[in-house]
Amino acid sequence: MKPEELLQQLQHHPDFLKLTLAHPDFLPFASYQLENGTQIQIWDTGVIYCLPKQFGTQDIVLSSGVHGNETAPVELCSELLNDVLAEKLLLTERVLFLFGNPPAINAGVREIQDNLNRLFSGHHSKEPGVQSAERERAKKLETYVLKFFDEAPQGLRERKLYDLHTAIRGSRFEKFAVYPFLHGENWSKTQFEFLKACGANTVLLMQTPASTFSYFAAQSCKAHGFTIELGKVRPFGQNDMSRFTQAASALRALISGGELHTTEFNEADFNLYEVRRSINKTTEAFTLHFADNIENFTTFDVGTLLASDEGVEYKVEVEGEAIIFPNPKVAIGQRAMLMVKPVSVAGKVS
Ligand SMILES: [Zn+2]
Repeated sequence: MKPEELLQQLQHHPDFLKLTLAHPDFLPFASYQLENGTQIQIWDTGVIYCLPKQFGTQDIVLSSGVHGNETAPVELCSELLNDVLAEKLLLTERVLFLFGNPPAINAGVREIQDNLNRLFSGHHSKEPGVQSAERERAKKLETYVLKFFDEAPQGLRERKLYDLHTAIRGSRFEKFAVYPFLHGENWSKTQFEFLKACGANTVLLMQTPASTFSYFAAQSCKAHGFTIELGKVRPFGQNDMSRFTQAASALRALISGGELHTTEFNEADFNLYEVRRSINKTTEAFTLHFADNIENFTTFDVGTLLASDEGVEYKVEVEGEAIIFPNPKVAIGQRAMLMVKPVSVAGKVS
């Protein structure tokens, strides 16, 4: 597709997700200006940069579809973006919209070959000679996000990246966020307040580096980066979008200078967890010993057998230990489940 054709289609029918999914592997660079003065630049398939004529001090990346079958966040972001393109929504901040894995979105699957959200911070290139579309994509997404932050005007600015997901299984707390490891720096009060405004007052605080997009944003871009789980995975058209209203309006307000309904941070308003241990799948014998409908953050009695692998049994070790992200289908060597426990951030927030 030629850039002129691309722009003609987009101006005639302002739906970038549709264009992305029609051209899941590549779109050429193209740019144009909306009548309200907002500059629109297409950087690649699923990557579109919006620069309003007047903008504040935040640089915001909104990412969805890093896992292709997690459709609700894709629909949510597409709606926000289409309103920008149709000039129904005037941005007050620089925004980069990303649809992470267009081929996987088309196929209705989490990934084509590799879990894209395990390939950031250079993990895309850690195994020499191994190639996949997701590895290529992770490398490019890193470049685009760095370019977006680097091209911001000089001065005191706030970098943010919200990577929106839905989880494979239901959750005791429907919406929750993963706060990447900050290497000992304080957690941000204002970010907790924003997460709560999105309806995500359950937060998992990580204590180790990761290969996720949000850790890349936090560590390599010095951004406030989060993985936000907005609910349960469903196919396109089967999402009850009313369950996403709170997050959608908070994000809309954030990028367009609307009123954010935040309340001052009070730890009692949150369910805070930290990782106690990470359980990796080491052989094909890895098995979970609880049902598929057991929700994230479920706790069991001490001593309950949760999973087994060749020669190992994983049991609940302490009171309050809860499961999260169990997935026996991951590749060998990858994380199959996290065990988390409640934690306080007293003295570690500012
Ligand atoms: Zn996901």
